[in-house]
Amino acid sequence: MGKAAKITGTWANCKACGQEMAPGNGCSSIHIYDMPNGEKWKRVAWGREQRYQAPSENEACHDCNAMPGQYHHPGCDMEECPKCGNQLLMCDCWD
Ligand SMILES: [Zn+2]
Ligand SMILES: [Zn+2]
Ligand SMILES: [Zn+2]
Repeated sequence: MGKAAKITGTWANCKACGQEMAPGNGCSSIHIYDMPNGEKWKRVAWGREQRYQAPSENEACHDCNAMPGQYHHPGCDMEECPKCGNQLLMCDCWD
């Protein structure tokens, strides 16, 4: 909890792609991450995470409402770091 996307009746807008974070609107903006060390990593789409069991076919991301196979909106706390496999918001790859 603690994300604006949960407010009843409205959806927060993604700062990256500008879409409302409504179910089915995966992020259309950033699909590759440029790491501080110059490496490029393809983002992990919802449902491709190593840390969780794959969601069912119509199960939106619990935080950003991406559907399986779509990209999370940046800042989603479900997103996995493509490099280390930990929670993207918590990992050390971006220092
Ligand atoms: Zn987005
Ligand atoms: Zn998400
Ligand atoms: Zn990482």
